[in-house]
Amino acid sequence: MLKNYTEVAVAEMLPRVLEEYRKQNPDVCDCERCREDIMAIALNRLPPRYVVTDEGTIYTKVIFDQIGGRAEVTAAILHGIKVVSAHPRH
Ligand SMILES: [Zn+2]
Repeated sequence: MLKNYTEVAVAEMLPRVLEEYRKQNPDVCDCERCREDIMAIALNRLPPRYVVTDEGTIYTKVIFDQIGGRAEVTAAILHGIKVVSAHPRH
C-alpha cells in the first residue's frame, strides 16, 4: 500500500490544531470544505514522504520521526488556517 506519511500526519493533527485555534478565534469556520482547503495548503508546504507499507496500521510516532516532528506540521496547519480564514471559499 502506497502512503504519504505527511498526509497521515496532517490529517491526524488538523482537528486538534484547529480546535485549539478556534478557542482564541471562534469566528474561524471548521466546515468540511475549509478543513480540506487548510489540509491542501499545509500539505503543499510540507515535503511528501511516500512509503510502501504492508501493514494497515501506521504508527504515528514513526511518522513524525520521518517527517521532522510535530512542530513543523503544526506550523504548516496554522498557516493554512490563517490563509483560509482570511479568504474562505464559500
Ligand atoms: Zn467553511
